[in-house]
Amino acid sequence: MATTGLRDEAVGLLQELLRLNTVNPPGNETIAAELLRAYLEDSGVVCELYALEPERANLVARIPGRRDGPSLLLLSHTDTVVAEPAEWSVDPWSGELRNGCVWGRGALDMKGHVVAAATAIASLAREGFEPAGDLVFAATADEEVGVDVGLSWLCRTHPETVRTDYCVNEGGGERVPLGGRPAYLCTTAEKMSAPFRVVAYGRSGHASMPGIADNALVRAARLIDRLAALRFPPRLLPETEALFAELGDVPNPRRLEQAVAELPRDVRETVEPMLGTALSPTMISASERTNVIPGRCEVVCDCRLLPGDTPADVEPAIRAALGEDSYDLEWIEAVGGTRSVLDTPLWDAIAAFIAEDDPGAGVVPVVAAGFTDSHFLREAFGTVAYGFFPMRTMDPDLAARLIHSADERIEVADLELGVRFLRHVAATLGA
Ligand SMILES: [Zn+2]
Repeated sequence: MATTGLRDEAVGLLQELLRLNTVNPPGNETIAAELLRAYLEDSGVVCELYALEPERANLVARIPGRRDGPSLLLLSHTDTVVAEPAEWSVDPWSGELRNGCVWGRGALDMKGHVVAAATAIASLAREGFEPAGDLVFAATADEEVGVDVGLSWLCRTHPETVRTDYCVNEGGGERVPLGGRPAYLCTTAEKMSAPFRVVAYGRSGHASMPGIADNALVRAARLIDRLAALRFPPRLLPETEALFAELGDVPNPRRLEQAVAELPRDVRETVEPMLGTALSPTMISASERTNVIPGRCEVVCDCRLLPGDTPADVEPAIRAALGEDSYDLEWIEAVGGTRSVLDTPLWDAIAAFIAEDDPGAGVVPVVAAGFTDSHFLREAFGTVAYGFFPMRTMDPDLAARLIHSADERIEVADLELGVRFLRHVAATLGA
């Protein structure tokens, strides 16, 4: 009875939120922050808006704690990526309820999660919940682009508003078959994104007389081949050890490569990026004219390092692969790559919820290949931040296809599950 009420409450709020266009750029997240503030204040939750730019507000709401236990942040972002209405079966800003789903841009990434968290804290406040430590809800701007008006800016300029011991954010919760039984993926770490540039040098000349030049593009082709063939040895992290344990057995590090090769293909695709550096040449530029042989050619590589590794750790292997050719190697940036420990009360709360709600299913930690706002909290405050929003009804492959794409929608059953999950975590940690 109570959950039916909360389900309908969440569906209604999500429909309203989806009708607000917060495509980033430009974002325009203040309209979402105002809607959420009105909803939360109706339930007696104290709210504050923080904005570097007036149209791009971050909302932080709080149930103050008794100060004798850990604080928890329910983190989400209100901006979305763009939508091309012609590709959709419904208006992307309609919030339409159809076939048991709420449709609209951001339903999965991540207005559904925003609303589940808002409903969780609002309903707890109405029940008179007094948490041990502060229970904080933050719906921030600017996650999808990152021009420093969202969580990164809040962490720097208003640290006390978002500093907590624990955080639940986006970036996990898929239910996948693993080792013969279902498991929910909980993102506890992220790889570091460290793209680099390789510049190959030759000697320019007129393309009608190739013999007089030394074509840097052709030299770069050889370097690209070597980069593409480069394989980094796999290595176990605490996260992947726990994942293998769930699969039934942690391989001997010396036979790790073979153990990975023996995994079923879908499991291997999940596990492989978590075992080592991943590198892909993605951009190239050389001559601007058909008839000019380039004396310089620039290749950019996307490169993802395991958390804990730095560019200096992998550069020797990259240089060894590139060999003796004439080139420069230059790192463009190095961002992310933070992790949270696994053995925590937050982990226990998540595992207990799944054990109760979906008996027989496990929870496994994963290292995400991409970047989320969890990074800023880990970096600024050492917060234990996990990405987890359980999704049980929608197939995870379908969800992955819909995110940032047409016909994005969330199953009402998953939205309701999210509300129950976030209430459980808040009540458990705040007990
Ligand atoms: Zn997102």
